[in-house]
Amino acid sequence: MADRTALPSELARRLFQIRSVGAITGAGVSAESGIQTYRGKGGIYDDPQHGDKTVEALSGHTLLADPDRTWRAVGSLARQAIDARPNVAHVALAAIERSVDHFVLLTQNVDGLHQLAGSRNVIDIHGSIHEAVCTSCGALKRFDRDELAGILSTPQCARCSGPMRPNAVLFGELLPVDKVQRIHEEFYEFRPDLVILAGTSALFPYITQPVEIARQAGNLTVEINPEPTLMTPQVEFSLRGKAGEYLDLIRRAITPD
Ligand code: NAD
Ligand code: ZN
Repeated sequence: MADRTALPSELARRLFQIRSVGAITGAGVSAESGIQTYRGKGGIYDDPQHGDKTVEALSGHTLLADPDRTWRAVGSLARQAIDARPNVAHVALAAIERSVDHFVLLTQNVDGLHQLAGSRNVIDIHGSIHEAVCTSCGALKRFDRDELAGILSTPQCARCSGPMRPNAVLFGELLPVDKVQRIHEEFYEFRPDLVILAGTSALFPYITQPVEIARQAGNLTVEINPEPTLMTPQVEFSLRGKAGEYLDLIRRAITPD
């Protein structure tokens, strides 16, 4: 565990005054729980043989053309994530939520670990890899471990026998309108004192714009990532390291014990 002094002193001083927080997370936050990221060192895309194939299988296009292929890929990712446990990063964010006046967590992760750690006001913009929704009647289904082991083709709805799709946003698909609206309310209209960007390669505008809005408003912006990203020059403080290490330091600076 890094020493508390690892936070720049100017940052620690300003964190002490924070009353509202907007955290934005990506796959890097779950890396310490053993879930592979997409990009970055050791990510799925790093694999020259399977990277592109995985993306293709997880696309809206493939879901229409060959849904069983999409489900096999989803099943394999979901099985990888089912035994993962929240790590220090997830726990620190849940603790920060309990100690400030207002907190929101915008996550691109589909593994459910933030919710498991106790985060409540979560916008899971990409949905959940452990759930399916019926394309005919809209029924929602949450898979347990045994069911995930058996996903080799498209599951059928228990209510109407219709084909089910993953309750997640696939590559090339539109974002859910209600969740985009919540991003606007929480980051554009409300504007938290502090916006933290942790463990994401930050390639999508709905991830980068809330940070830019905060910066323009003069609010505190912090990035945590072992590698530089396109957002590194945009934030006030860029912390080069692991999400668990730095989020725990930020938690302690916001809520000194
Ligand atoms: P990404 O894979 O594109 O980028 C991961 C980022 O995390 C990289 O910048 C990497 O340098 C950084 N990172 C690696 N280890 C870290 C650590 N210990 N602490 C902090 N940062 C670390 O992920 P993304 O930006 O979230 O976008 C990828 C897409 O893939 C998302 O749409 C998401 O839905 C999906 N995805 C989700 C999961 C998950 O739910 N756990 C896993 C893989 C991909
Ligand atoms: Zn149905």
